[in-house]
Amino acid sequence: MDLPISQTMQQARGAMSAFLDFFEHTPWAERIGDPAICDFVAGNPQEMPIPAFVEAIRAAAVPQDPMWFAYAQAQPSALSAVAQSLRARTGIPYGTEHMTVTTGSFGGLAVLFATLADPGDEIAYLSPPWFFYAGMIAAAGATPVRIPLSPPRFDLDVDAVAAAITPRTRAIIVNTPNNPSGRIYTPDELQRLAAVLAEASGRNGRPVFLIADESYNRIVFDGRTFTSPATAYRDTFVVYTYGKTLLTPGERIGYVGVHPEMENATTMREALFGAQVVLGYKFPNRILQHAIGDLEALSIDIDHLQHKRDRMVEGLREIGLELESPEGTFYLLPKAPTADSRAFVDLLAARDVFVLPGSTVELPGYFRISLTATDDMIERSLPGFAAAFKEATA
Ligand code: PMP
Repeated sequence: MDLPISQTMQQARGAMSAFLDFFEHTPWAERIGDPAICDFVAGNPQEMPIPAFVEAIRAAAVPQDPMWFAYAQAQPSALSAVAQSLRARTGIPYGTEHMTVTTGSFGGLAVLFATLADPGDEIAYLSPPWFFYAGMIAAAGATPVRIPLSPPRFDLDVDAVAAAITPRTRAIIVNTPNNPSGRIYTPDELQRLAAVLAEASGRNGRPVFLIADESYNRIVFDGRTFTSPATAYRDTFVVYTYGKTLLTPGERIGYVGVHPEMENATTMREALFGAQVVLGYKFPNRILQHAIGDLEALSIDIDHLQHKRDRMVEGLREIGLELESPEGTFYLLPKAPTADSRAFVDLLAARDVFVLPGSTVELPGYFRISLTATDDMIERSLPGFAAAFKEATA
């Protein structure tokens, strides 16, 4: 395609070509919202939002002073709510001076990439990844470096990380709980990772930062606890979005926490504020900032999500599909019975069951299912999965 756009943005588009290819050439796009389909493609809500979420937004929309909707960058009450939350979750003494509020994890990541990396700098990510990392890194003018992990569990392979680090490595993104693998990295894995990053920082003469994408850190199953990478490594930025826990991804609010022990931590946070302004006033809308204290306390029903996970894992295994049971997030990542999952994805689509092909997450032999589908869709889909599996393996 010969668009008169910047080289940088052409590279960003190239880095997410598998994603664009699926979304530009899929019958799913025309069927979204059709009650006849079973829609497992995206982590989008398919049921009405939490009533308390709606109440919080409604209350926050009523102005209490003339400045209620003024330019405010990150407002003090929002910073104090997120600092308190991150402190309680990690035991690390985050203060308001270490926090900023962002337009979700998308916004936090974009601001960090632009703040940390120069052209030629590398930002590494674990693969299979969230589909926008490589494109967003390229959009910041940096070079995405893929670190492949091994099936079936996609554990955090610290040796692979060590092998991928170069003198140009500026940061590594660690997404835990992981979209799409569902893995929660263990304290031991994180400690070993921290040792590798500290050693590489010394060798490089500048920090290799850890960007902890914790978008799903409150969506964990079976009574597991989540350990933040920030507890293992001081040169960590924690990135969070409320869009997953509340299942309201169109309402853009989240935060970035700068580790209090990072060198020049508060100046780093000032740098993030500046980047947010010049990148296009990337602060959440005031209504969301006013509401954030209330939003902190809310969550979708995790037990119900776990129940959907169990039903789907059991149903798909009975059919003959291979998959791990995720420890957190709302995704399943089964292996396709065809070498390239796209063929299987098409067989499913012919039966009104829509899933995401693994090519979009650098894993063509797999496909991803989002458990944000309804119970009814899960039940209705299983005969479709069985029939498609039978046809694919005949
Ligand atoms: N990181 C990961 C791993 C995600 O799955 C998502 C959302 N799909 C994001 C970041 C972005 O989150 P948000 O849209 O809430 O900013």
